[in-house]
Amino acid sequence: MGEPSADGRFGSFGGRFLPESLVPACQELEAAFRAAWAPDSAFRTRYRALLADYAGRPTPLTDCERLSEELGVRVLLKREDLTHTGSHKINNVIGQGLLTLEMGKSRLVAETGAGQHGVASATAAALFGLECVVYMGEVDTERQELNVFRMKLLGAEVRPVTSGSRTLKDAVNEALRDWVASVETTHYCLGSVMGPHPYPWMVRELQRILGDEAREQCRALLGGADPDVVVACVGGGSNAAGTFAGFVDTQARLVGVEAAGGSAIGRGIPGVLHGMRSYLLQDEWGQILEAHSISAGLDYPGIGPEHSYLADAGRATYEVAGDEEVLAALQLLARTEGIIPALEPAHALAWLVRAARDGTVAAGSTVMLTLSGRGDKDAEQVMAALR
Ligand SMILES: *Cc1c(COP(=O)(O)O)cnc(C)c1O
Repeated sequence: MGEPSADGRFGSFGGRFLPESLVPACQELEAAFRAAWAPDSAFRTRYRALLADYAGRPTPLTDCERLSEELGVRVLLKREDLTHTGSHKINNVIGQGLLTLEMGKSRLVAETGAGQHGVASATAAALFGLECVVYMGEVDTERQELNVFRMKLLGAEVRPVTSGSRTLKDAVNEALRDWVASVETTHYCLGSVMGPHPYPWMVRELQRILGDEAREQCRALLGGADPDVVVACVGGGSNAAGTFAGFVDTQARLVGVEAAGGSAIGRGIPGVLHGMRSYLLQDEWGQILEAHSISAGLDYPGIGPEHSYLADAGRATYEVAGDEEVLAALQLLARTEGIIPALEPAHALAWLVRAARDGTVAAGSTVMLTLSGRGDKDAEQVMAALR
């Protein structure tokens, strides 16, 4: 996957739909990232060193014998659950934290829904000695008390957002507002491949490490061959974008799996939100609808613009998984492989289980699935759902 157009478009999606006051901040960020991301830059060297020595990369690719036997397809898992903090989000925040230093800024703001990106941002802020403010819908601060506490332990300030529906989309708006008012000192550390240009491109590039590693590891394991199918879950779409970046120029079929109650590609209509044009869940009047999922990390009402482009271009397909099959898939992986996944990647797994059983994925195929995070954070919720 290459660069978007000069105005940040992937086909007819993406762009920079913002009030004039925010455009210079995006332009400054784009220039800083473009310079930092040049091949063989000092930034890249430092980023890679931190991913190795702090975050624990490269993560393994696990060849799942017992699960493969159960499904009749060979399943390889890319183990982002084994990174520091337990998900792929660390790849993004280390990159954006370093970039904050590079731009001579001392403060990070971030939005969070379920709290995972807030915790990741607070982690990077602590690592780099940055002040950190996390905007979180008031409703979410009540639902995710433990993550609020984690952010505070890490030295961040959590600001509950009381506007709108008091959830993630309102937190994004508040973070944008803070950024424009304090852009001299502040970087907005956005959590997925969404928002105005350059974020969808920048965050995909920062997550590309995941897909590049997986491709090398697959080739080493498969005698130079690529997997037949590559699958990842999609909230905003960052772990899927990083994964797809590694395989887009192979013959592999690319599949993104959304939560059934948050399916922007399946049920959405193109529109503009948070500075980008993409598929969005909205009613006939253009009001943004709430997404629903057992997994708080997948309940964003939109999807990153590059996914909208890949869907329309037919290079990737987007499927859905429902709460019940997700819980079943989570238990299946736990019992066959001794790995408790987060609820988000359990969506990817749930689709794979269904697709292997109904023949959508042919018997004997090789499937590379990104296990974006570990399940510890969801244990209480899974316990309640299974009672
Ligand atoms: C946040 C999160 C996601 C969803 O975000 P994407 O940007 O779609 O990757 C998926 N899995 C885990 C474990 C997460 O924490």
